[in-house]
Amino acid sequence: MTHTTLDPTPSGSLRLPSWFRQPIPDMEKISAMKDSFRSKGLHTVCESSHCPNMGQCWGRGVATFMILGDVCTRACRFCAIAAGNPLKVDLDEPEHLAQTIQRMKLRYVVITSVARDDLGDEGAGHFAKTIIAVRKENPAIKIEVLIPDFSAEEGRLKKVTDVAPEVMSHNIETVRRLSDQVRPQAEYERSLLVLKTIKRLNPSIFVKSSFMVGLGESREEILSTMTDLLEAGCQILTIGQYLAPSQMKRHLKVERFVSPEEFENYRQLGRKMGFRHVMSGPLVRSSYIAEEGYQECVKDLVST
Ligand code: SF4
Repeated sequence: MTHTTLDPTPSGSLRLPSWFRQPIPDMEKISAMKDSFRSKGLHTVCESSHCPNMGQCWGRGVATFMILGDVCTRACRFCAIAAGNPLKVDLDEPEHLAQTIQRMKLRYVVITSVARDDLGDEGAGHFAKTIIAVRKENPAIKIEVLIPDFSAEEGRLKKVTDVAPEVMSHNIETVRRLSDQVRPQAEYERSLLVLKTIKRLNPSIFVKSSFMVGLGESREEILSTMTDLLEAGCQILTIGQYLAPSQMKRHLKVERFVSPEEFENYRQLGRKMGFRHVMSGPLVRSSYIAEEGYQECVKDLVST
């Protein structure tokens, strides 16, 4: 099969290993999807984060939508999304997204957002409105939301847990020791509190988190992060390789490429520890084949 390699910049100064080779994407399909999203003013994290899986996911007609604009109020050092002063919230966005999902005939959708520390509720109400609108237009759909931390404020989290998306995800992103360096405006403990609060507020929602490896963390630190997430009530876990979005100083360099075998080891360990679903691999991202995690959790529930 014909393959292409990714842009060499994501690795920083390291050379990308062969396991990052990807099939050549269907550019016509990608273009058509981009046009359709732009015409409605919608954004995807696939594009904004330069996700290496775009060819694969968009080729299957799947994308992860990013609400509340495409400019983030935080400047995490692993992230490609533009940071700065965000635009006004598009109040029609929930409807437009709901209609687009209906046209795409999706049965499972992942919706995320930029951080909006400038808004009174940090965007929690807009998430809730979006979930309601998407459900109204697509009654059979299953919804996963990947939320920012909302400063771990219970009232904000409750706005979202009250409208009960099937899965709520909040990413811990990295191990405790590297947290301040990797995402200076977030806190490791605060992220754990977000996950715990979601589970307490609505135990029927499956809780999910993700982190990257290759930023200089040790195996012990990875295992300790997995333990922390499990104790916080996390049921679905994804682990993927960090790739630097650019060579700019703002972005951290890749310290190490983790082998597919080591990723598989973390997957097996995670399952033994008690996560209901673990996806772990070089190209795994939080929203990568996300429906699988939800389906596994449902299967587990039915069999217990
Ligand atoms: S892994 Fe997620 S962010 Fe990346 S292309 Fe697929 S759906 Fe988009």
